[in-house]
Amino acid sequence: MLDTDFFRRWMAATAAAVDREADRLTELDAAIGDADHGSNMRRGFAAVSDVLEKEAPAAPGAVLTLAGRHLISTVGGASGPLYGTLLRRTGKALGDAPEVTSDQLAEALGAGVAAVAQLGGAQAGDKTMLDALLPAVEVLGGSFGEARDAALAGALATVPLLARKGRASYLGERSIGHQDPGAASAALLVGALAEAAGP
Ligand code: ADP
Ligand code: MG
Ligand code: MG
Repeated sequence: MLDTDFFRRWMAATAAAVDREADRLTELDAAIGDADHGSNMRRGFAAVSDVLEKEAPAAPGAVLTLAGRHLISTVGGASGPLYGTLLRRTGKALGDAPEVTSDQLAEALGAGVAAVAQLGGAQAGDKTMLDALLPAVEVLGGSFGEARDAALAGALATVPLLARKGRASYLGERSIGHQDPGAASAALLVGALAEAAGP
């Protein structure tokens, strides 16, 4: 079972990974966007870490809805509302259960990912964060390690794609040949689940 502390560790591990990889995320965004994805994500997850230290949400769902709200309020740009919606909708789907199974998390994250698709109007293959999130959700009920590998593979598979949503889509064909920054950060978020679960 996954308890409230697991979800706090997940957010903390995401914040650490985003901090560590911020320069790489910004470089990816420099190639096909406006070179702010690393700083956007770093600022957002630093705010999430802060609020989770100050407040002690009593359930897994509450950890994610609080985190999502803070992402929306601190991250300008496309990724704030999208990641915020992902976590808020996932948290809402978990309800107020004090512990959840990994199957329940997989189902809830599926609802969160669907909300991202609805908000941004993107689908698989559009070269967005969804290209890492969708394959991860499919295998998440199995193991976090599998989900991490699926998200990473999905992020790398965005390289040859043509961007159809967001800033990168303004480049048209010139978006081809670069990894999508949001897919790269989504792989960090999914990878942090395995870290939170521990060895
Ligand atoms: P901005 O583009 O406003 O500077 P960021 O650089 O922080 O925002 O985030 C860019 C990332 O957001 C992209 O790499 C992509 O993965 C994701 N993104 C942008 N638009 C959409 C969308 N409509 N649906 C899903 N993801 C999107
Ligand atoms: Mg950007
Ligand atoms: Mg921007």
